[in-house]
Amino acid sequence: MVDYISGLNDPQREAVMHGDGPLMIIAGAGSGKTRVLTYRIAHLIENGVDPFRILSLTFTNKAAGEMRHRIEKVVGTEARNIWMGTFHSVFAKILRIEAKAIGYTSNFSIYDTDDSKSLLRSIIKEMALDDKVYRVNSVFGRISGAKNRLIGPDDYINNAVIQADDEGARMPHIGRIYKQYAIRCFAANAMDFDDLLFNTNVLFRDHLDILNKYQHKFQHVMVDEFQDTNVSQYLITRKLAAVHQNICIVGDDAQSIYAFRGANIENILNFQRDYGKENVKIVKLEQNYRSTKTIVQAANSIISRNKNQLEKHVFTDNEEGSLIEIIKASSDNEEGRLVASSIFEAKMNGSLTNNDFAILYRTNAQSRAFEEALRKVSIKYRIIGGLSFYQRKEIKDLIGYLRFTVNQQDEEAFKRIINLPKRGIGDTTVAKISVIAAEKEDSIWEIVADIGKHIAGRSTFAIESFATLIKSFKLLLDQKDAFEVASHIAKTSGLLKELYDDKTVEGLARYENVQELLNAIKEFVDNPDNEDKSLSAFLQSVSLLTTADEKEDDGDNDKVTLMTIHAAKGLEFKNVHIVGLEEDLFPSQMMLESRNDLEEERRLFYVAVTRAEKRLTMSYAETRYHYGRLKMCEPSRFLLEMDQQYLKVSKQRSAPSRLDFDRPERDKSESTSTGSMSFVRSLAQKTARSQTPQSAASHTPSPDFAPTSTADLAAGQRVEHAKFGFGMVKNVDVNGTERKATIQFETAGEKVLLLSFAKLRVV
Ligand code: ATP
Ligand code: MG
Repeated sequence: MVDYISGLNDPQREAVMHGDGPLMIIAGAGSGKTRVLTYRIAHLIENGVDPFRILSLTFTNKAAGEMRHRIEKVVGTEARNIWMGTFHSVFAKILRIEAKAIGYTSNFSIYDTDDSKSLLRSIIKEMALDDKVYRVNSVFGRISGAKNRLIGPDDYINNAVIQADDEGARMPHIGRIYKQYAIRCFAANAMDFDDLLFNTNVLFRDHLDILNKYQHKFQHVMVDEFQDTNVSQYLITRKLAAVHQNICIVGDDAQSIYAFRGANIENILNFQRDYGKENVKIVKLEQNYRSTKTIVQAANSIISRNKNQLEKHVFTDNEEGSLIEIIKASSDNEEGRLVASSIFEAKMNGSLTNNDFAILYRTNAQSRAFEEALRKVSIKYRIIGGLSFYQRKEIKDLIGYLRFTVNQQDEEAFKRIINLPKRGIGDTTVAKISVIAAEKEDSIWEIVADIGKHIAGRSTFAIESFATLIKSFKLLLDQKDAFEVASHIAKTSGLLKELYDDKTVEGLARYENVQELLNAIKEFVDNPDNEDKSLSAFLQSVSLLTTADEKEDDGDNDKVTLMTIHAAKGLEFKNVHIVGLEEDLFPSQMMLESRNDLEEERRLFYVAVTRAEKRLTMSYAETRYHYGRLKMCEPSRFLLEMDQQYLKVSKQRSAPSRLDFDRPERDKSESTSTGSMSFVRSLAQKTARSQTPQSAASHTPSPDFAPTSTADLAAGQRVEHAKFGFGMVKNVDVNGTERKATIQFETAGEKVLLLSFAKLRVV
């Protein structure tokens, strides 16, 4: 048996061995929260708790899988019986079992974001509202926000406060749209992601017998990443734990990064109130086992700037480690090249594999430059959360057929497949069917199955044969497993043939993707962990994949990971690159409306920094295309906020680009000169010389605003800054290896600038 107890420190052991009663583990990043939760579950099972009676909620299904795997090493295959997964996947399972109670059938569809938006678009159109005012993203965000706060359509309509805020006042009909949306989802026997939680709350509120059943069933409830639960999730856990009061929550307020989605740090504070201060056992974990001292201390120096936080002192006994490297690039493309070559070099110098590296960014759109650069140096990468396998058109098309076969009320699946392959059924006819169904409060299928009664014209024949086709698919559901049904549908619907006939490279790739989906279904059917092998069970497992759970396209698993910081929560990598550290990008301009927003961005930065085990590199570009315009960028304030003693400005690497080889020898040697000071100086010298536009664009910052050599700058000098304009240096301050200048700008006021980053020109 695995001796898990000896691999724990004192407070960790205390948490693992805690018996009954509420337990709150508040801890710093990398302090073993997830490890404690894992071994606590193993320990409970070792001590006789039935795994079927343990509910454990994680942030991704992948995290659940890893936990289960570790628990299995301690307790054996019993670990497979634990109820474990994301909130959405666990409660979708319960809703499937209890669907009847709330008027659904157990084969309900789960609408993904595209389905939800497509439905909202139809509704906005049908209501003849202006889609420039009622933008589908804002409307969807509003409805989602309401659901996560458990505000249903009628409550929304009757709530004067919600109606009157800025967005509400601008879009006074959202309540009506919301109501119609809810009616349509219900008629389609479909739930969107938020409904999975909303309807669980409704189920538990209106059916006390059902609530009771689960309250008694789950003897222990565990929640990882508790700081990111929203009101809806919070209430579910509270209700479920009400009988046994065995609830263990694990969280770090400093890593709360989903306030924009309705998550609430207050939940952590309310925990004591809910269960009684005297009953709640609190364990604090402060020793970090993940990162070097440098990384831990630098992270502390950032988060200490946030006012709203619980007191914690995170420390580590790990080695000092190397300084955090800062890479400055002249453009976003150059940033890509420099990061790729940094990874290339690090791999050469140490015995590292691609898996040891992660590139973390604020928004998905930033991935392009890194993808291109990594491809050029032949480093394999995976993107988490980009356009995933299951979002590809051909995959969604086949899934649409599968969904409609399982649930003929599914309006969005219907719209996707009715004219696919082409049957001569136009959009107007489809819209007409939706409207008739909505007016009669019937499902789409009832109209389609009896189409002759509702519309006349050429397309009725095509619709009738479509209905016959679906009926024939439906007959298979009870006789065949998911793979057999899906293969039959792929062939008989004509989807596969259409792709097969398309002999272009893209067509071939799409054909292979569909085959790959069929492979995935086969794997699902063959997996002994899956008891239910029905098509409906497969569809549910697919619709609940989170961005972090995506499928690898090929068999090769050794890849650099590219992802947003949000998706990186809970993960760790030996070497981490945080990229795009520029004002307006990170902190994000879009999110920055108040101090609270800034604190959330800072927590996000803290999450990014604390993913790194050994080496952390941060980079920024001085220019970047933004909405098609080249923009000058300032280094992020987060770089300046970090205690500068942990930072070093990187020597400029020779980026492996074609331009490098084109340039004369002299230029090449200059661009690889080492050391932060000589780097800065060489740039300053270069910019003083006249340059060809090509070399200026490829390797150096704008000649007008080069970083000034710190040696040159003194109090009393007049300077010009790219953004703040003219100003006077008040003093120059030495801090570690870096110098800061306090400058009184004529219009922008007083600023303190780190000289190696600042785009200053002495005038
Ligand atoms: P995060 O805040 O990022 O979610 P966490 O608090 O959940 O982090 P874990 O991921 O559980 O932390 O642990 C971080 C790393 O430290 C893991 O690699 C884990 O195996 C290791 N670790 C945790 N506790 C110990 C320990 N007592 N001895 C050795 N290694 C440990
Ligand atoms: Mg964790």
